[in-house]
Amino acid sequence: MPTETKTTCPYCGVGCGVIATVADDGAVSVKGDPDHPANFGRLCSKGSALAETIDLDGRLLYPEIGGQQTNWDTALDLVADRFSTAIAEHGPDSVAFYVSGQLLTEDYYVANKLMKGFIGTGNIDTNSRLCMSSSVAGHRRAFGADTVPGVYEDLELADLVILTGSNLAWCHPVIYQRLAAAKAARPGMKVVVIDPRRTMTSDIADLHLAIRPDSDVALFMGLFAHLISAGAIDQNYVAEHTSGFNEAFATAALLSSNDILEQTGLPAMQLREFYRLFTATEKVVTCYSQGVNQSSSGTDKVNSIINCHLATGRIGRPGMGPFSLTGQPNAMGGREVGGLANMLAAHMAIENANDRDRVQRFWQSPVIAEKPGLKAVDMFKAVADGRIKALWIMATNPVVSMPDADTVEAAIKSCPFVVVSDVLRGTDTTSHADILLPSLGWGEKNGTVTNSERRISRQRDFLDVPGDARADWWQLAEVGRRMGFDGFGYTSPADIFAEHAALSAFENDGSRDFDIGACAAIDEESYRLMSPFQWPATGRDTPLCPTGHLPHRGGDHERDDLRRNANLAASSNVVPVSSDGVLPISPLVGEMAGRPEGGSDKRFFADGRFYHPDGRARFVALKPVICDRTNSEYPFTLNTGRIRDQWHTMTRTGKSARLSSHIAEPFAELHPRDAIEIGVGNATLVEIESPHGKAIVRALITERQARSSIFVPMHWNDQFAAKARIDAVVAPITDPVSGQPASKNVAVAARPFAVASYGFAVSAAKPDGLDAPYWALAKADGGWRLEIAVDQQVEDWSLWCRRTFAIPEEIEPLGYVDRQSGDVRLAFFDGGRLLAALFIARQPVAVARNWAIAQLVASHDQPRKRFALVAGRPGADMPDPGATVCSCLGVGVNQIIAAVRGGCHSVEAIGSQTKAGTNCGSCRAEIRGIIDGCLAAAAE
Ligand code: SF4
Repeated sequence: MPTETKTTCPYCGVGCGVIATVADDGAVSVKGDPDHPANFGRLCSKGSALAETIDLDGRLLYPEIGGQQTNWDTALDLVADRFSTAIAEHGPDSVAFYVSGQLLTEDYYVANKLMKGFIGTGNIDTNSRLCMSSSVAGHRRAFGADTVPGVYEDLELADLVILTGSNLAWCHPVIYQRLAAAKAARPGMKVVVIDPRRTMTSDIADLHLAIRPDSDVALFMGLFAHLISAGAIDQNYVAEHTSGFNEAFATAALLSSNDILEQTGLPAMQLREFYRLFTATEKVVTCYSQGVNQSSSGTDKVNSIINCHLATGRIGRPGMGPFSLTGQPNAMGGREVGGLANMLAAHMAIENANDRDRVQRFWQSPVIAEKPGLKAVDMFKAVADGRIKALWIMATNPVVSMPDADTVEAAIKSCPFVVVSDVLRGTDTTSHADILLPSLGWGEKNGTVTNSERRISRQRDFLDVPGDARADWWQLAEVGRRMGFDGFGYTSPADIFAEHAALSAFENDGSRDFDIGACAAIDEESYRLMSPFQWPATGRDTPLCPTGHLPHRGGDHERDDLRRNANLAASSNVVPVSSDGVLPISPLVGEMAGRPEGGSDKRFFADGRFYHPDGRARFVALKPVICDRTNSEYPFTLNTGRIRDQWHTMTRTGKSARLSSHIAEPFAELHPRDAIEIGVGNATLVEIESPHGKAIVRALITERQARSSIFVPMHWNDQFAAKARIDAVVAPITDPVSGQPASKNVAVAARPFAVASYGFAVSAAKPDGLDAPYWALAKADGGWRLEIAVDQQVEDWSLWCRRTFAIPEEIEPLGYVDRQSGDVRLAFFDGGRLLAALFIARQPVAVARNWAIAQLVASHDQPRKRFALVAGRPGADMPDPGATVCSCLGVGVNQIIAAVRGGCHSVEAIGSQTKAGTNCGSCRAEIRGIIDGCLAAAAE
């Protein structure tokens, strides 16, 4: 019998519920969990492709020391010994953990406890520093705690949704889908997008404000002053629940309208319209994400937004409030356990002596970190200059994702002792480890994650543990024990979660926002059955952690057992099963049914009670900083970010052919006039350079990009491209409050990269030994696709193919080499099976790529088909679908254009005709853009 397991997507901070089904033959499929309140059954393209990313190819399966397989005892003893030695010789500040928003809360909790409570230093930081630490800092300044006030439903209830620094359509696709559906149902709802780029999200915007980079503070300070002059201030709320209003106003008043227009670069009409909309609309939600956070003024940006919501009292009520959308699946869980170097566990403050004392007493630990530790950028500087003697990196790939990544790589190489815990053996970071520890991956590990709306959900295992892989919490606890510390005798994630919950409630009594005391006595069975719930979840709400859904593990037989157990336990507060076999929703969960008017009752601050000692929120007096870093040598502003179908450094999504078909190589978006000025043609190569590093990527010329600015995705690593780690170019400039790097405003130069020949290839075997200055590799159905460019002529392309694609000697190529034109077409067949095909030209190669890729799994028994492949053109019987738009259903741009020309002028009509956009919906914004483009072209 197939087994179903309810779990949570491991990618973005939306935190979608997933049902994973393991068939009798072991095949895994996934679908959205209709009962999960984050997604109600929806998944985006990444979530839908999860089953394609769980193979064991490239997995790290055994501990290794110096590249040699070893056993856990030897590896853990060595880790404990080297950390203990460094601490004994150089003090606790000589060691550090660099962890990740990919860790589960239980892993994070143990890591933080070991470092801050037992080793006694704050030197644990996380890649969430790069993602949302400015939001944390802004929340703490305004609210006195790192509290996200609202819930997702607020975006659906709002009359005005502002998306600032957030490409929701690609980075939080399911929230985008919820918003788009709400807007379609209620066309009066307005959406304003604030972003220097015209992203896919802009396509649902009533107003797109293409502000200058980092001018958000000026924009929102201007709004704040406008609200005052328009009489839109909630005087009672401000008087009774806040402080600092006059100081904030005094600085805002210094900005004239002209200042704001000049700094933001917006037309006056657009600015007026934005201010009018905000002023006139009670139900306003302002969502912000990396475009706000990843800035040298990120914390100020957050407070400039919060100031406007506090001033109008539009916070914590249905359909209104500031809303930070987190990037990672468990960025919020990391914040809850104190995974940032400047925080303590359970949202307590490391700089507060009472909090330190409380946590130490709870942990019964020998020490407690007395001061904040090193934040990510400073941590790697300390590694580089030798202050850090032992470093443990968990579930992250800083050689790709850290700013100034080449320097970070050199620092890791030079560190005397580096441990890396990962699921993969060959990442850009693992190659520099002294010790590799194999961790459990998604589908193998067990624990909890918290999404952007404070909802805690279970990640559950449904796959066998491969090799000797072990949970990260287990690795940490074992090292803790071997270092001689008590307090690490955990036997399960439930054990750890219960302790984490108990700490959240310890001496709390409402004085701290994070309280899940209801779960402090959770047992293994309740933990196993746990349904998604939002915090706060205190003992006052319910005496036991909520249960609502069965995890569907073990088929009907086990289901029956679970139901029986639930019934038996009804008297001890496990929710009983109704006669139809469906567990009712717990009163604590309450999202799906019986929820209070206006949806969730888990909002903060409608009552005006904040977490500063006086119970008041703080306005923050701000000063906009004009942040143009460009100069004559580096005249462009680089903005880095995500694309729809890849995640972080591609170590998992790069395994999926379907996801890789959307955008298969690294690119730089440039404005057409900039491209002309620097002499870069579409699809040629462009070199991006800063004082820190270089990248070579494909030029994508588009009017979506503002003048003098360049967008490059942050995903590509050295396994998938020759030189596209764009974070190697990013300067290590940080926000002075949060320490978050400014990854969206980097001064760079851009120039054409001189190419002798461009190439495109498909290959059944993974290409090996690539040494071209540009190459980009991507998975494809039946093999691999490869883009290459060389800066010197290659003498013998046939030989090159044999080496690169492992073509046996006896197989002769079909095709030609034209030395005059530089055109090369070579294909190698093993009987009727294509082994590899290479297309070379002096200009970017014009080949129907998706058609060529499809030939890897096609039969080539007929000579006609072999020659068609060499020609690089599909026959009339097999039209080229074009670049993939809909990854789920494999629909290409040419198919959509044909449908538009055939009269389909809406996304729905395109869906009916081609099926594009009818599964996860992540491509619907792109489809709309293609329709608009075709119709505009036809009208010209
Ligand atoms: Fe996963 Fe997509 Fe949901 Fe994010 S929106 S949690 S990536 S399915």
